Amino acid sequence: MPESLNADLHCHSLVSDGTLAPAALARRARDNGVQLWALTDHDELGGLREAASACADIGLRFVTGVEISVSVGEQTVHVVGLGIDPEHAGLLRELRALSAGRDARARRMAESLREHTGVDDAYAGASRLAGNPALISRTHFARHLVERGVCGSTAEVFSRYLTPGKPGYVEHAWASLEQAVAWIHGAGGVAVLAHPGRYRFTPPQEHALLGRFRDLGGAGIEVVTGSHSAADWRKYAGIAREFGLRASRGSDFHSPRESRCDLGRLPALPQGLSPIWDLLH
Ligand code: AMP
Ligand code: MN
Ligand code: MN
Ligand code: MN
Repeated sequence: MPESLNADLHCHSLVSDGTLAPAALARRARDNGVQLWALTDHDELGGLREAASACADIGLRFVTGVEISVSVGEQTVHVVGLGIDPEHAGLLRELRALSAGRDARARRMAESLREHTGVDDAYAGASRLAGNPALISRTHFARHLVERGVCGSTAEVFSRYLTPGKPGYVEHAWASLEQAVAWIHGAGGVAVLAHPGRYRFTPPQEHALLGRFRDLGGAGIEVVTGSHSAADWRKYAGIAREFGLRASRGSDFHSPRESRCDLGRLPALPQGLSPIWDLLH
C-alpha cells in the first residue's frame, strides 16, 4: 500500500468518548476520502462489529482497533492496537477489568467538581452523556460542565479542571506498558504509541519510553495526528527513523463540534517512513 494512502487509523465513537455511532463515522470517513480506516475506542471493542459491517456496505477498507490507557510514572500514555481480533476473549476480559475502575473514579471526580464548580449533578450529567455506561470519561464531564455554563468549551474545562494538578483531576492506575502491548499481541494486533507529542516527559524519559516500547515489540508511533503540530510531525518522523518504528497517521476525531481535525483531513506522512499499514492486511 502506498505511503500516500489516505489512512486514518485513530478515532472514537460513542462507545467511548466520541459523539457519533460507528456506522456514522464510517460514512463520514468515506465521504472525506479515507481509503483505510480504523475505529480505536478507548479500552473498548464494542463498536467494531457495527463499524466493520458499515464498511462492508460502503466498500471502505477497515482495520479493527482499540486505544488502551496506560500509566507510565505519573502520566497517562495511550497505546493503539490495530488489527486485533475483536472477539478475543483474553483481550475482552482485560479491557473489562481495566474499565471497571472508571465508575469509582467518576464518582470522585464528581465530588471534587461539586466542591470547585458548584455543579452538583456532574456524575449524573456525565453518565447521561456517556453512550456506554461502562465508559465514563473526562470528556463526558467536560461536555456536561459546558452544558451547565461553567466553561465555554470542553478544552477550557480540561485546562481549568481536568488535567493533572487541577481540582477535578483524579489519579488513576491504568494498565502497564508491558500489559497493553502483550494484550494487543495476544489478540493478533500490532501496537502503536499514540500521539507521543502530547506527553510531558523530559527528553531522557521520552527516550526511555520509546526504547522500552520498541523492545517490547511495539511496531509504530503516530507521526501525523490531530494532536500534533507541524513541528511534532517532523520531530516524530525523525524518532520513527531513529528507533526503527513504523509511522502511523490518525485524526483522533471525536466529534464534529469539538475536534480540531476531521476524519481523513490530515497531511501525508513525511517522506521516507515505513507506514504501519504495510503490516495490516
Ligand atoms: P479519560 O480516559 O477519562 O482520562 O479521558 C481521556 C480523554 O480526554 C482523551 O482521550 C481525550 O479525548 C480527552 N482529553 C484529554 N486531555 C484533553 C485536553 N487537554 N483537551 C481536550 N480533551 C482532552
Ligand atoms: Mn478521547
Ligand atoms: Mn489518546
Ligand atoms: Mn484517541
